[in-house]
Amino acid sequence: MTNMTIKLPASQKENIQPKGKSCLNSGEVALVGSGPGDAELLTIRAMRFIEQAEIAIYDRLVSEEILALLPKDCERFYVGKEQAKHCVPQDKINQILVDQAKLGKRVLRLKGGDPFIFGRGGEEAEYMLQNGVSCHICPGITAASGCTTYAGIPLTHRGVAQGCTFITGHIQNNGQLNLPWQSLCSPTQTVVFYMGINTLPKIAEKLVEHGRDINTPAALIRKGTQPEQKTYRGTIGNLAELVEKHNITPPTLIVIGDVVNQLTEQQLKTPGFLDANDYVQSVSEKIA
Ligand code: SAH
Repeated sequence: MTNMTIKLPASQKENIQPKGKSCLNSGEVALVGSGPGDAELLTIRAMRFIEQAEIAIYDRLVSEEILALLPKDCERFYVGKEQAKHCVPQDKINQILVDQAKLGKRVLRLKGGDPFIFGRGGEEAEYMLQNGVSCHICPGITAASGCTTYAGIPLTHRGVAQGCTFITGHIQNNGQLNLPWQSLCSPTQTVVFYMGINTLPKIAEKLVEHGRDINTPAALIRKGTQPEQKTYRGTIGNLAELVEKHNITPPTLIVIGDVVNQLTEQQLKTPGFLDANDYVQSVSEKIA
């Protein structure tokens, strides 16, 4: 096992000395979730793998801020993935991972969010195992969690939402969007759609058709946790209009449910920071 050091404040060092389990050996791959963009949301384990990488194979959703943390001499390999336009097809990506590991490199496979949530990480891991390549797996904060939290939206809230579903709005190979609509329509359930911006009109239509109230609060969060984060709040009924009006493009999440308005936007001038001063002011304005 390789010995490694990571740069942390002295107060934290004692608790997180490398224990061997995050050591990336030559010929191994680390399949790492980089979270939704803000480098502060990386896990310590992810950071350890990043620091050991000799080659990083990464997607479009990995932010510049995170790429800047790669070691200076680390090779970079961009494999893209824009909607409907995969820069490198998935089977090629699988093969690149195996080939680079077999060259004896310490390979970092860096993916946006969590590799096992709409990230095809399972397919990559399977292929590596089938080809005799060992692979460390490291979760990341998935977009649904990171983006909603930074937008001040609690995914569950006592008395408002008892559960939450993450689902893909990506059109299927047969050109259809066949989803278990009925199961997404309970009023006390939050639903988060990944990859749904292009199918949004269909999503809204189907939810209403299956009984979800057209006035249910809804939000679109674009580039969540990144400096350009934007949140647009509305209802199921006017989401599609918001997309057109603001020309909203991926990466964007769609959040449906009463939790969207649980904490008002007013307190969220900075993503991820709820300002108590504004809160006191808005409450006193209401009283007056
Ligand atoms: N594995 C990733 C998801 C990849 S699917 C994860 O766990 O987060 C790609 C979709 O994720 C995008 O179309 C968008 O819906 C969502 N997404 C990822 N990062 C995002 C971000 N920073 N802001 C908004 N949506 C994001």
